[in-house]
Amino acid sequence: MSKHKFDTEINQLLDLMIHSLYSNKEIFLRELISNASDAIDKLKFLTISDEKFKDLSLEPRIEIEVDKDKKKLIVRDNGIGMNEEDLKEHLGTIAKSGTKSFLSQLSGDAKKDSSLIGQFGVGFYSAFMVAKKIEVISKKAGEDKAYKWVSSGNGEYEIKEAKKKTQGTEVILHLKDGEEEFLDDWTIERIVKKYSNHIPFPIYLLKEEEKDGKKEKKFEQINKASALWRLNKNEITDEEYIDFYKQLTGDSNDPLHWIHTNAEGTLEYSTLFYIPSVAPFDLFRVDYQPGVKLYVKRVFITDDDKELMPTYLRFVRGIIDSEDLPLNVSREILQQNTILTKIKKSSVKKILNELKKIKEKDFDKYLKFWKLFGKVLKEGVYTDFENRDLLLDLLLFKSTKRDTVSLKEYKEAMKEGQKSIYYITGEDEKMLKNSPLIESFKAKDIEVLILDDEVDSLIMPMVTEYDKTPVKSVSTSDIDEEQKEDKEKDKEKEEEFSKILVKLKEILKDEVKDVKLSSRLKESPSCIVFDKNDPDFAMQEMLKQMGQTNLPKVKPILEINPDNEIIKKLSQNDSLSELNDIAHILYDQARLIEGMKLEDSSEFVKRINKILTKTI
Ligand code: ADP
Repeated sequence: MSKHKFDTEINQLLDLMIHSLYSNKEIFLRELISNASDAIDKLKFLTISDEKFKDLSLEPRIEIEVDKDKKKLIVRDNGIGMNEEDLKEHLGTIAKSGTKSFLSQLSGDAKKDSSLIGQFGVGFYSAFMVAKKIEVISKKAGEDKAYKWVSSGNGEYEIKEAKKKTQGTEVILHLKDGEEEFLDDWTIERIVKKYSNHIPFPIYLLKEEEKDGKKEKKFEQINKASALWRLNKNEITDEEYIDFYKQLTGDSNDPLHWIHTNAEGTLEYSTLFYIPSVAPFDLFRVDYQPGVKLYVKRVFITDDDKELMPTYLRFVRGIIDSEDLPLNVSREILQQNTILTKIKKSSVKKILNELKKIKEKDFDKYLKFWKLFGKVLKEGVYTDFENRDLLLDLLLFKSTKRDTVSLKEYKEAMKEGQKSIYYITGEDEKMLKNSPLIESFKAKDIEVLILDDEVDSLIMPMVTEYDKTPVKSVSTSDIDEEQKEDKEKDKEKEEEFSKILVKLKEILKDEVKDVKLSSRLKESPSCIVFDKNDPDFAMQEMLKQMGQTNLPKVKPILEINPDNEIIKKLSQNDSLSELNDIAHILYDQARLIEGMKLEDSSEFVKRINKILTKTI
C-alpha cells in the first residue's frame, strides 16, 4: 500500500466543488458515466487498431448498482481501465493545463461555475460532492494486475493492489449522510435519461423486483444507447438535441444552434455540429481542446485531432461519423485521407452557409453568435482563401453611421460616385471616429467602417475587393487622389503652397517620407498617412505585438490642410524664426490625434511653451 498527496490544485478544486457547485450536484453521475463511456471508446478503438487486442470480444456495458444498507453507489465499466501509473496521473494530479485557468475563472456564482466543470475536465472530482469516500478499482486491458485507489477527498489518496477479473473500472461512492436520494432507482434513472440517454453504449441499473413473493435482482437497461447523430432529423426532438449537446460537451448551457446532416450518395456520413452559447474557456489558447470527435461506423476514433475543423471554427462542437473510412484508419493517415478531406470541406461550407442563413433570418441570434465568436471567425479571412467570399459576407463592422453593418449593407448604401469601401483601423473606437483622416468623408456624408479589433489590421489588407468594389484604408496615401474634386484648383494650390512644402520637407526630413497638400482634411491642420505599399500604423503595432521587433522604421507622409488658418498663415510667412518648432508641432499633433506615441514628448512640450511665451 502506498500513500500519496494530491496536487495542491486538486485540494483547491475539491474545496470549491463541494462548496460552490452544490446546487447542481447530480451532474457527478453524468461525469462518471461520461468517463466510463470514454474508457470503452478507447478500448474499442484498440480492438480495431492494435494487433494485441484483436481477439478481445468486447461487449460494451456500463453498470450502476446501489447498496442501500451500506449507502454505496457503484458505477462500473468494461473499458480500457487504469494501471497504477494511470491512477496516480489521472486521479492524483492535474496534468491538464486548463485546470489552472478553470480555477482562475470561477466567479463564485454557483450556476456559472458548475457550467465550467465539464469544459475543464475536472469531472471525476465532482463525485466528492456526494461521497465521503471514493474507491476506484481498476484493471487495465492487457495487464495482469488490478489496483485500488481510495480517497476521502481530504488531501490524500492511497493505492494498493486489488483483485479484479476483467478489464475495466469500478467506481464506488460511499455516500455522505443526507445524500440518500442517489440510492433511489427512480432518481438514478431520471438523471441518466436526462444527461446520458444517447451515449452509444447501454447503461444498466441493477433493480430489485418482486417475483412470486421473492425478491430478485436484475440488470435493466435505462438509456436509449442510440447514436443520436445517426437518426433521422424528424425522429429527434429539440430537447434531445440539447440534452445530447450537454452530455457531449459537459456544458450546462443550451447550445445556440445545431446543424445535423445525414449525407448519402458518393460519400455516406453523418455530422452533428453545435455552436455553443458560451465561449469555451480555451478559445484563445494555442493548446485549445478541439471540439469535434471523429467516429467511423459509430466507433469512436479520436477527439484530439485539430485538423477536423479549421482553426477559425474551433468553437464548433460535435461529431463527424463516416461510413466510408476504414475502421483501422491510423491518426497519421487521417491527415491526408481524401474521404475525410471531402467531408471536412463540405462540413465547413455547410456551417458557413448555415451562419449566413441565421444572419439573414434571425439577426439577433446572429449578433449573439458574432459577439462570442466573430473575432475567431475573422481569422478565416486570411487562412481560408477558398471560402473568403462566404466569410466576407459573415463579417459585421461598426461604422461612422451605424452600430453594425455588413459589407453588403455598406455597398447598398454607397453614395453616388463613391468608388470604394472605406475603413479606418486602430485601437480606440472614439479616437478613430474623431480622426482627422475621415474629416472629409464625414463632410461628404460617406460612411467609413471603424475597425478597432486587433485582427482587423491583419485581415483587412488581404481584402482588396468586395463584390467587385475596391476596399481601402483611409490612412493610405492614394485615398487622397480619390478625394480630389477640382484638379484645376488643386494645381493652383500646389503652386501657392510649394515654398512652404519644400521648407517643411527639409525640416522634417528625418521624420517623414514626404509632405503633401491634403484634400481629405476639413478642420485639422495636419494628418499622418502611410504610403500605399507601407504597413499602416495599426498593422505595425500588430506586427510588433506578434513579436516582430526588428521591423525597419516606416516613415509616414505628413499631409497639411491648405484651408486651415495656421497653414494659410504659414505659407504667407515662411521665413518665420519659429518655423522649425511649428513644423514639428504640426507633425507631433497629427501623431497624437491618431493615437500614436510621440518620439520625444518633452521636446514637444518645450516647443509649445516657446510659442506660448511669444504670444502672451
Ligand atoms: P476528464 O474525464 O475530463 O479527462 P476526469 O477527472 O473525469 O477528467 O478524469 C481524469 C482522467 O481519469 C480521464 O481523462 C481518464 O484518463 C481517467 N479516468 C477516469 N475515469 C475512468 C474510467 N472509468 N476508466 C478509465 N479511465 C478513467
